[in-house]
This record gives sequence, C-alpha cells and structure tokens, in this order.
Amino acid sequence: MPAYHAVGNVTGSCGHAHRSIQSAERCRRAHVIGCHLQGGYSDREIEHTNGQPIEDWEEREIADASIS
Ligand SMILES: [Zn+2]
Repeated sequence: MPAYHAVGNVTGSCGHAHRSIQSAERCRRAHVIGCHLQGGYSDREIEHTNGQPIEDWEEREIADASIS
C-alpha cells in the first residue's frame, strides 16, 4: 500500500502517511498557505514515505489535484 507525505529539506515532513496523493497534495497546499501567512516559504514536495521517487502518473495526479 503506497503512502505519501509532504516533505522538504527545510520544513521537514508533515509526519502523515497519506493513503492518497490527493490527500497529500491538500496537506502540502495547506502548509504552503500556512507558511505564506507567516511570511515564510514551504519547500515541501510530495514523496513516498518509503523514499521511492514519485512516478509520472503520480505527478499527473498531483497536477490534477492542484486544479480542483
Ligand atoms: Zn500530511
């Protein structure tokens, strides 16, 4: 069962194991907004919790989730 988290070098991991990429994307975007409100910047990207790289179809899922 793949799981995702939003993680960045500076801000670290969100600490979740999201079961869907859409859920991880919502989490990432909430962090982007939260950082923005504090005048900061979120460097988080979505990754597999096991460290495997995000695949092309998953990139498309993320892009689709960003639109809706
Ligand atoms: Zn999360």
